[in-house]
Amino acid sequence: MSTARQQVEALLDFIDKSPSAFHAVKNIKKKLILFGFKELKETDKWCFKPAGRYFVVRDDSSIIFFVLGSKPLAETGYRILGAHTDSPSLKIKPNALIHSDGLLRLGVEIYGGPILATFTDRDLSLAGRVSYKKVDGSITSQLVKFDQALLRLPNLAIHMNRMVNEEGLKLDKQNELALILSESVAEQLSSKSLDKLLATALHIEVDSILAWELNVYDTQKGSFWGDRQQFYADSQLDNLASCHAGLQAMLNEATLVADNTLVGAFFDHEEIGSESTKGANGCFLPDVLQRIAFALEVDKEDYRRALAQSFMISADMAHAYQPNFPLAYEPEHKVTVNKGPVIKVNANHRYSTESISAAKFIHWCEESEVPYQTYSHRTDIPCGSTIGPISSAKLGIRSIDVGNPMWAMHSIRESAGVEDHHYMIKVINTFFSAE
Ligand code: ZN
Repeated sequence: MSTARQQVEALLDFIDKSPSAFHAVKNIKKKLILFGFKELKETDKWCFKPAGRYFVVRDDSSIIFFVLGSKPLAETGYRILGAHTDSPSLKIKPNALIHSDGLLRLGVEIYGGPILATFTDRDLSLAGRVSYKKVDGSITSQLVKFDQALLRLPNLAIHMNRMVNEEGLKLDKQNELALILSESVAEQLSSKSLDKLLATALHIEVDSILAWELNVYDTQKGSFWGDRQQFYADSQLDNLASCHAGLQAMLNEATLVADNTLVGAFFDHEEIGSESTKGANGCFLPDVLQRIAFALEVDKEDYRRALAQSFMISADMAHAYQPNFPLAYEPEHKVTVNKGPVIKVNANHRYSTESISAAKFIHWCEESEVPYQTYSHRTDIPCGSTIGPISSAKLGIRSIDVGNPMWAMHSIRESAGVEDHHYMIKVINTFFSAE
């Protein structure tokens, strides 16, 4: 089996075990611990060992991990790989239960910008975090994931929606997104039906549950497809594929003995604008970078010198060309699946790329024998953004936005190319290892 295929199998396994940003961070933590990383709490005083490996988690769904380099921080700066742990989804409303017409449905709110039509007729289920009171009165939380399909959003039959193929499937956000959980029966009419499900799954008392955050996910596992199985499909490729590539690029013993201080920063809340305590527009990364410097007894002046020496790759997926929709793309900037990582450029700085950061990335691609492509959005369609411009602006760090080409971004079933994942791991590894 090729290395690329194995790496994508590992990616699909990671995604299938990570149906929420909380689960993604839990699985990243597990992997880091295997490689000798130690957890630091933000509430503790930080002390480091030379060449130490550490990670910090904020609110269970954003994580920053780092390896201390052997050279002085002010001379090397930080090598940062940024990505995001969240994906567009439906989240369950707090008073979720809707009993009507003999059915029990769950009310949902839209998180980020999912392609809503793709959520119909899928084997959906729930995952997230539940907070509850323990017997001793203290409050704790656990992650929950239902493996079996629990929920469904059935389409309307074409006989009642005759123009669906001409006009597309339009779902009214307020009235047409509630998900069917069950028939409605008398014993469910209390507001506790969902809490009962959660309590059973977590082996806790129903009345101990205080609050939760739950998102909908697709239970269908990742798969390979294409005549040579050269493509793969799963949910949340945006952006767990970039998290996985960044993690794989750092986690090998040769890279982990580094001259430079290496940092991976994976944030929740990118899909809703990054403005939160744990989002890229919050203080998490500046706090951690500063605390690393101060724990190493680097003064403020040298911390600023370190930032000025630093470089960040912001990795987030890119839009692959889909030949059925030629008019959606900028003609000279079609990027193709399995042709290498994409450098994203936008004159209005929706992407942080500039010519010097692009040149450096191209150099690392050449060194790794990895092909690369360049993307620019159509001039007449608004361009999306990501964490690159936000993080680099907050810190004054030179940065580039790159990502692997994929189809159907924000569908519940996205797809991409097997070779590209391998290429991305290779080039990020070169970035971490380069002088
Ligand atoms: Zn993204």
